[in-house]
Amino acid sequence: MLIDSHCHLHDKQFFDLSKTDEVLAHMRENGVDKCIVIGTDPLDSEAACDFANHHAEAWWTFGYHPNDYDGDKAKLAADLERAKKVLDDKRLVAIGEIGLDYHFDGYNKDFQRHLLENMLQIAQDRQLPVSFHIRDAFEDFWPIYHNFHIPTSVLHSFSDSKKNMKQGLEEGFYFGVNGLATFADIAHPPLERIVFETDAPFLTPKPFRGIMNKPGYIRNIAEWAADYYQQNFEVVAKITTENAEKIFKI
Ligand SMILES: [Zn+2]
Repeated sequence: MLIDSHCHLHDKQFFDLSKTDEVLAHMRENGVDKCIVIGTDPLDSEAACDFANHHAEAWWTFGYHPNDYDGDKAKLAADLERAKKVLDDKRLVAIGEIGLDYHFDGYNKDFQRHLLENMLQIAQDRQLPVSFHIRDAFEDFWPIYHNFHIPTSVLHSFSDSKKNMKQGLEEGFYFGVNGLATFADIAHPPLERIVFETDAPFLTPKPFRGIMNKPGYIRNIAEWAADYYQQNFEVVAKITTENAEKIFKI
């Protein structure tokens, strides 16, 4: 059994929600029994909540992507106040994706920091793990992270330096490994600290590059990992699935 620990299947910008049953059937046919749909802002997170409450294979997260926040503090406070009612939902398994992203021009460090601190406070108060999106920003991330006490969490789509991977391992993080590993030249964490994710619709793994990603393709990421780590497929599936089940309590 495999798990997709990070996808955006609920997002109607990308997926035709009238075809969800087909996507989930394809997922199960490929041995992927569970998925976590990831919120990227308060409204999108409510859609993720709704999705998870209509599909037995799905759980959801409450998130706010660093690039999606415009710096309006009053609106953020109101959004987070309103979110309190969905945060009690029994299928909520994590906060995320949240983090810092300095990759593209136009980002605002103060806005991102303010948002991240607000979201980490929720994770700490509710003792929820986090799916972190950190891009070109680990130097700023570590000190903010150290101000909070949150359960064992995941660095989603990790593609940073070996130095930051080493620190992430020392800090107890797990690493979200996705299609990037199958086609990009990036550092690979030890198998014991991996959870699989598609980040669908993005980052489609080999051999399906060029078409839209979906959770069934976790199988291809697992096949890549079996080859890379020189383990049999069942061992890779067992380790990564148990990791995700333990972190997200699913
Ligand atoms: Zn994502």
